[in-house]
This record gives sequence, structure tokens and C-alpha cells, in this order.
Amino acid sequence: MSSSSLHYTPNLRDIEFNLFEFLDIGRTSLGKAPFGDLDETAARQMLETFSQLCTQELAKSFDEAEHNPPKLVNGEVKLPPGIKAAMGAFYDAGMHLLEVPTHLDGLGAPPSLGWAAFELLLGSNPSLAFYTLGNLLARVIDRLGTDEQKKRFLPHCLERRWSGSMVLTEPDAGSDVGAARTKARQVDGDLWEIEGVKRFITNGESDIAENIIHMVLARPDGAAPGTKGLSLFVVPKFWVNEDGSMGEHNNVVCTKLEKKMGLKGSVTCELTFGDGKPTRGLLLGNVHDGIRQMFHIIENARMAVGLKSMAALSAGYFRALSFAKDRLQGSDLAKARDKTAPRVPILQHPDVRRMLMAQKAHAEGMRALCLFTASTQDQVELQGGHRSTAAGEADVLNDMLLPLVKGYCSEKAYELLSLSLQVHGGSGYLTDYPLEQYIRDQKIDSLYEGTTHIQALDLLMRKVARDGGATLQGLLSRIRETVEGEEGGPELKTERAALGEALGHLETMLGTLMGKLGESVYHVGFQGNRVLAAVAETVIGWLLVRHAAVAMDRMKTNPGDKAFYGGKVASARWYCHEVLPGIAHAARMVEHGNLDLMDVPEESF
Ligand SMILES: Cc1cc2nc3c(=O)[nH]c(=O)nc-3n(C[C@H](O)[C@H](O)[C@H](O)COP(=O)(O)OP(=O)(O)OC[C@H]3O[C@@H](n4cnc5c(N)ncnc54)[C@H](O)[C@@H]3O)c2cc1C
Repeated sequence: MSSSSLHYTPNLRDIEFNLFEFLDIGRTSLGKAPFGDLDETAARQMLETFSQLCTQELAKSFDEAEHNPPKLVNGEVKLPPGIKAAMGAFYDAGMHLLEVPTHLDGLGAPPSLGWAAFELLLGSNPSLAFYTLGNLLARVIDRLGTDEQKKRFLPHCLERRWSGSMVLTEPDAGSDVGAARTKARQVDGDLWEIEGVKRFITNGESDIAENIIHMVLARPDGAAPGTKGLSLFVVPKFWVNEDGSMGEHNNVVCTKLEKKMGLKGSVTCELTFGDGKPTRGLLLGNVHDGIRQMFHIIENARMAVGLKSMAALSAGYFRALSFAKDRLQGSDLAKARDKTAPRVPILQHPDVRRMLMAQKAHAEGMRALCLFTASTQDQVELQGGHRSTAAGEADVLNDMLLPLVKGYCSEKAYELLSLSLQVHGGSGYLTDYPLEQYIRDQKIDSLYEGTTHIQALDLLMRKVARDGGATLQGLLSRIRETVEGEEGGPELKTERAALGEALGHLETMLGTLMGKLGESVYHVGFQGNRVLAAVAETVIGWLLVRHAAVAMDRMKTNPGDKAFYGGKVASARWYCHEVLPGIAHAARMVEHGNLDLMDVPEESF
């Protein structure tokens, strides 16, 4: 793609439908404490402005790093100018302030609005997304830091646009974070020295900002093995004095810049701490509670990755749709024998329609799942915040939805982006079109922030098991209410029935798996990904049916938007007809699941 061609068409209409017509955040979240005083009109205006910015200024940087990737020069990573310009435009427009709380001079938007805006950024250029991590880290320090630490890092971390990274992975500690060997030695109070090597660190080094705040998991001398013994340290690239002024380089050294399949504008580094001279860090909150503290960041990152996949699929779908409208090839299948029949746009061919609707319905379904999860996060904040007793129910629901957002969206988007490319025929394989880059940029999503199977284990062994399945059952009961109710009236009767069948099979599947656990936990290992997908598809089916009900209603009062609403109904019908029946098959596979593979000798693989 030439760098000047703008590749991205956002689905602002569907974002607004989710937020304002379905979730109704204008009534449920906006303007309510602890959120700022943005109302629906202002929120819509803001999304419109960000959408313009993302499709124009930010999207310009989309493929720059394909030809001019970041370079490691004398220990500093130099970013290509377009990435820096795009991030400058992002900050100048105040996009970073959207979710920053009002007491830090932000707009205090609820998560639902914040994540909706984030989709636009991700769609414009997914490599940009994690350069914004400094904002999240500022919020984490604000929430978990000591008063002295807050004074040291806030608000200039935001004002001066410092960057950030989350630092867990080591050569021998990937999925198994608890195997980390990076050490911490106390100097005095909350001041520690850090020593070790971390790898694959996004945004670990770059010249995008004057400073980078690294949040590093390390093990204090004598601490327990495993994740429990890890503590979280705030380790700036340049030391930050108590008054917030910057000191000397803190000996956080980029010892390798990774070359990757995609997402080339996003820097991935090996970082070495404390080699030759000390690297200093501050123990966050001056408490040893590292993994729980890091989960404040990980949960956001998992949500961001799920959204990244959804944004990529949505963008891929719009490219495929536009191509299918323009490309003339073949005649109508019904007139195939008539050699004089006119050539038609490929959009006319049933198979192309099938591919397009698969992308459309899944992209809308994933957005529905992401923004439903985001609105659950609104409720958490409204009811007292993460880990507060009052917000308990919403909090555990959000916890349970996150592996679905991350695990399902990342796996499915990869599968469906290949259809976005397929619609383009041979052209899709060329770098003249953005599809092949979409696929390469997206593939990382099923890997980082915990692979798909780690999400499945998180869902089943932690989120479902910890309360005996009560949270999941609560969600499934809400789905049952829709199945047994009249939402959408007689026109959606077939879809509600399909949802009911899927729900029944899912419940059977879960029961079967629980029964098999008595035989071996390996059954969770074999079936976990399948169960995660089935739960996600049932939840998405539920949301899409309810979207369709709202759309049918709105069509009556807003006939000017009939095409959009009709499209929502078509997506829901397709999903119920084509995707939900697959859950019956998945349930049978779980039922027939056995442990034979564990007996296949290693040498027979
Ligand atoms: C581009 C990029 C950016 C990254 N950014 C960051 C970052 O900013 N910060 C950071 O800390 N890390 C980052 N990572 C690291 C990333 O989170 C890890 O790569 C990921 O968690 C997987 O770890 P691993 O690569 O060591 O794979 P492994 O853990 O070795 O996994 C290999 C395979 O084995 C499977 N597996 C592993 N353990 C189990 C198990 N117990 N049960 C079943 N299956 C298992 C996995 O699912 C996977 O399929 C990044 C990685 C990349 C590639």
C-alpha cells in the first residue's frame, strides 16, 4: 500500500448503536459519579472527531514501518517519523485524556466510551495502541501507588506524555510467569535495585517520549517461588526525582530489537536491567502484591487485544465489502448458461455474500461482546470500583468476560480475516492491498497477553471454578430469560429458539466437562479452547438477537436508517442460523472426548 492511501473505514454507526441505542450509556453511565460530566451529545461529538482523526492523520502511519521499521541505534530505538507524528496528533487531540479521571485533569469518560474510542485508534494503526500505555500506568500508579509515588510520577507522566511498558516475560518465563528470575534487592524503604533480563517487551524502548515507565515484575531476595513471590516495581528509563524532575539514565538497556511477522511499528525489545551498574525501581504501593497489581494492567491489556482483533476484522470486512461492490467478474449464477448475460459485481455471487456476512456478523458480534464487557466495567466503577465489595457482582462478571473477549476475538478474527482476503481474489495476496498486513498485524493477538489456551484455563480453572460456576450461571440465566421472553416479538422467534438450543447444548457441554474432571484434569486441557469458544458464541448470539430486537424497533421510528437496522437483523439471523448450531457439535465432541492422545508416545508424533 502506498503510505498516502488511507486504508481504514471505521464502523462508527455500529459503535454508536452499541453505546447509545443498545447499552444506553447516555442514561446508565455518562455524567454519573465517578465519571466526568460528558453527556451523550458530547460523547457522540467526541467519537466523530476521533474517527476523523483516526481515518486521516493516524491511518497515514499504517504501513510506514513495513518499509521503514524502528531501528536500534546506540541503545536507543528510533521510530519512523510517521508513527511519532501520529502519536503527536493523538495527544494533541486530547484522545489520551478521555478515560483519565477528572482529578488528574482528564475527561473521566466511562470505560464503555473509552474502549469505543480505542477501537478507532486500533483500526487506524494497531501498532500505535500500546504507545498509549503510559496513560494506563499513570492511572494504575494513581490507584495503587503511595502518596510519594503519586507525587513523583503524576501528573507530569501524563502532561509530558511519558510512555510505558509492562514487563513480565523472560526467556524461560512466558506463559509460566511465575518462573521469572529477575531479582530485586531492597536498598531503602520502597527503593530497590532490579537485575535480570526480560524479553519480548512491547514499547520497551523508543524515542517517542522523553521517558518510559516500565512496570517490572521481579522477585525480591528470599521471596517465595511462583507468581506469589513476585513484586511489582516502577522502573523509569530515566530516574525520576521526588519532585518529578528527571535524573540520569537508569540503566534499563535495550539489548535486542525483535524482527517480527507483523505489527512492525510496535517496538518489541529484550531489556536488560542492572548489568554493570544498578537499575533502580520503586516498589509499587510499597507492598509485595505484584501479580495482583500487575493484573490491573493485564486485564486492560487483554481487553485491548480483544478489541484490536475486532477492529482488524471490522476494517477487513469494510475493505472486502468495498472491493466486492467494485469488482465485476462472472455473471449471475442463475444465468450461468447464458453467455450474453452481463458481468456482475462479485457481491452478487452467493459465495461472496456468504463470506461477507460471516465477517459482518462476527465483527458486529465481537463488538457487541467487547462493549457489553466495557459497560460491565462502567458498572464496576459506578458501584465502587475494581475489587470493592459493592461492585462484586459486576466485577466478577467482567473478570469472566475478559478471557472471552481476548480468547475468542483473537482466534476468530484471524480465521475470518482470511475471508476478507479471499473476497479480494489474487489481489488480496498483494501488498497493494492492506489485507495481508491486517492478517500479519493481527496474528499476535492470540499469543500475547496470554495465549488462547491460557485464556481457556483462566476461564475454566479460575473464573468459573472459583465460585462454583455461579457467575457463569448468572449470565446463562439472563440468556435463558431472552430465550423464554418475547424480545423481538414473533419475527425473532426462530432466532430465540436457535439461541435456546445453543444454550441447552452449552449447558450439557459444561456439565459433561465437569463430570469428566473426576477422571482427569486433562479433559480441560483438551476441551478448554472449544468450551471457551462455545461460551463466547452463546453470549454473542444472545447479544446479537437483542441487537436485532432493538434494530427492528428503531426501524419503525427511524426509517431513514433502515439499511443499517436491516443489516443488524440480517447479522443476527445469520449468526443464529450458521454459527449457533455448531455448539451442538462442540458439545458432542466434548462428550466423546477421551485421553488417548496422552498415551501416544512422544516418538510417534
Ligand atoms: C510481539 C510481542 C509482544 C509482546 N509484548 C510483551 C510485553 O509487552 N510484555 C511482556 O511481558 N510480554 C510480552 N510478550 C510476551 C508474550 O506475552 C508471550 O510470548 C506469551 O505470553 C507466550 O509466552 P511464550 O512466548 O514464552 O510461549 P510459551 O509459554 O512457551 O508457549 C508456547 C506454547 O505452549 C503453550 N503452553 C504454554 N504453557 C502451557 C500450559 N501450562 N498448558 C498448556 N499449554 C501451554 C502455549 O499456549 C503456546 O501454544 C510479547 C510477545 C510478542 C511476540
